[in-house]
Amino acid sequence: MKNLIFLFVALILMQSVSAQTTDPKDTEVWEPEPKVVTPGKMNTAPSDAIVIFDGKNLDAFTDLSGNPASWTVADGVLTVKPGTGDIQTRQYFGDMQLHLEWRSPKVVESEGQGRGNSGVFLQSRYEVQILDSYRNRTYSNGQAGSVYKQHMPLVNASVAPGEWEVYDIIFRAPRFNKDGIKTSSAYVTVIHNGVVIQNHSEIKGTTEYIGMPKNEAHGKAPIKLQDHSNLVSYRNIWVREL
Ligand code: MG
Repeated sequence: MKNLIFLFVALILMQSVSAQTTDPKDTEVWEPEPKVVTPGKMNTAPSDAIVIFDGKNLDAFTDLSGNPASWTVADGVLTVKPGTGDIQTRQYFGDMQLHLEWRSPKVVESEGQGRGNSGVFLQSRYEVQILDSYRNRTYSNGQAGSVYKQHMPLVNASVAPGEWEVYDIIFRAPRFNKDGIKTSSAYVTVIHNGVVIQNHSEIKGTTEYIGMPKNEAHGKAPIKLQDHSNLVSYRNIWVREL
């Protein structure tokens, strides 16, 4: 009887040992293989990016009525032409990685929200604020890198006005069901000058200057840049669809 019990326990032990892998190859995943992308060098786009602005022209943009955009392009730089209105990409986007570089005017003429204000609206609706937030106090959820009036940035990574700043934005679009009800919020991660300032922040709905965010169903939509009357400049804008 003792021998039988011993045999039984031994069998169970052997089984549990055999269920545990001893071969490191068992946990290796080889397929699919991530495709090779050649990284950009010194501020150029990677090989699989959709280039929105490379310093040459505004062909990728229109005004909000669909007419050619009339902001200023000079010396490889795109600058807001105050009073001409926002511009938006001809192409529509959903989930994406967006890279853009921006610069607030070196000559400081105002303060708060009036200083170097522009903005990048993801899917035309969700603003990641662009503002000269270098020693320029305003409401926290309205400073540079905020999801405007929804999420303040984790830190203030701004550099002095007149210097180029970089946003790398990872955006997951909201999902809606066939009845137009939101089933998943949009999420955004923002890296500002190499510093994470939004870490998978939930976007509650549309950016509203007054009142609460809204959540009407929509599909892919343009990237919009804001004319807030300040001479904010842009360069090197590209997107990778995700
Ligand atoms: Mg703005």
